[in-house]
Amino acid sequence: MFISGAWSEAKSGRTFAVTNPATGEEIEQVADGDAEAARRAIDAAHDAFQSWKHTTAYERSAILRKAYDLMMERQEHLARTMTEEQGKPLKAAMTEVQYGADYLLWFSEEAKRNYGETIPSARADQRFIVLQQPVGVVAAITPWNYPVSMITRKVGPALAAGCTVVLKPAEATPLCAIEVFKVLVEAGVPDGVINLVTALDPKPIGDEFCTNPRVRKLTFTGSTAVGRMLAGKAAAHMKRVSCELGGHAPFMVFKDADPVHAAKGAQAVKFLNTGQACISPNRMYVHRSAEDAFLTTLTERVKKLKAGSGFTQGVAIGPLVNEAAVAKVARQVDDAKGKGAEVLTGGMRLTDGDLGSGHFYAPTVLNGVDPSMDIYREETFGPVAPVIAFDDEEEALALANDTEYGLAAYVYTRDIARAMRMFEGLEFGIIGINDINPTSAAAPFGGWKNSGLGREGAREGLGEYLETKMGGFAI
Ligand code: ADP
Repeated sequence: MFISGAWSEAKSGRTFAVTNPATGEEIEQVADGDAEAARRAIDAAHDAFQSWKHTTAYERSAILRKAYDLMMERQEHLARTMTEEQGKPLKAAMTEVQYGADYLLWFSEEAKRNYGETIPSARADQRFIVLQQPVGVVAAITPWNYPVSMITRKVGPALAAGCTVVLKPAEATPLCAIEVFKVLVEAGVPDGVINLVTALDPKPIGDEFCTNPRVRKLTFTGSTAVGRMLAGKAAAHMKRVSCELGGHAPFMVFKDADPVHAAKGAQAVKFLNTGQACISPNRMYVHRSAEDAFLTTLTERVKKLKAGSGFTQGVAIGPLVNEAAVAKVARQVDDAKGKGAEVLTGGMRLTDGDLGSGHFYAPTVLNGVDPSMDIYREETFGPVAPVIAFDDEEEALALANDTEYGLAAYVYTRDIARAMRMFEGLEFGIIGINDINPTSAAAPFGGWKNSGLGREGAREGLGEYLETKMGGFAI
């Protein structure tokens, strides 16, 4: 753990194992923190806030810029840590480190653009001035699927705004968090401004974050169930909350789209990170006239995806995070099969050779998925592409919106008017129009409905860490 500028073990002396999901082998033991450690970290962040909030935007910007440079210098080291701990192929891990560093760079720039406002008054003797000030101590909880970028996406804007931070990373990926902290510390973040509490059991730490009066803001990325529970607890203490939660992205292919191009895009985005992404397509609606061509290309390409250790050249499908994840994917696929879906490829756990000791599931294409199946509503977080045929645009839009989630949606069409109708009609926060990568540190990321609250990245990302102060001056 890292509290008040010092690396430490847990006071209890307890540790927990971090394992490699591709092999099941233990990598390292990490400090197992508890509510007392969280309290100490919050106190440290509270004390450090008293001076950090008075630093200039230019000082904070320079530190974040240095952190960006250091992270890029260590890109391969961080990527290797990620592949070992989280499982994604090394090339994808390199891309994620770049993406994570992008948030440091972006917010080093945004730090200097925290503008206020003057507002004309109806009274000649009055002036209104609006300031944006740092909200205070930020408690952050991050997931394992993007274990570097989900940290910088929160810590970057928090530091830029002048906030101090206590981070609890996912229990599956604390080593990436430790490496990110080393970068930030070396870049010059002062003692107490960032604090790291690692733990096997997240509950007592989450409770402390939600109830401790010194925490002014909770930022969470993870499942909708946990986010809803934490937001509810934090609401009782009137804390600012942002949540980036689950998704169930529709991927829509219209009759005027090139079905082969769309299928290539579908394969690329669906199987990224072995489907363990909140913006991963979970329902592929394909116009009946394009179905054959789409399925042929998709299935051909999915059959070629190689599963294995992320360190092996040519591997595209890493392991799932744990046994529970494999069981969930298997349950959804079996349920769909039982209700009439056709398995075009995959559909089983992979156990050949070395794969048997890891958590591998075969990349899978399911056709004929319908609303009676669990996979139609539940987030899969695994390598399964469920395909559904449709006949008309209005029906497809209604089906796409028929979900409790509202994070990402994808549309393939060459008709500009249809593209605009979909862009306006989809009830989601992120829409890719003929684009499978609608994410960037410069663009607001976040969901509607049960996919969350608030936005990360972009101009909005800084605003999440600021409080508005209005001054009325009588002159
Ligand atoms: P996933 O299903 O993707 O693992 P979770 O929501 O369980 O998503 O985990 C995301 C993050 O939330 C992790 O850091 C995890 O430790 C944390 N978390 C899970 N349960 C709780 C809880 N009850 N209180 C606080 N944090 C939690």
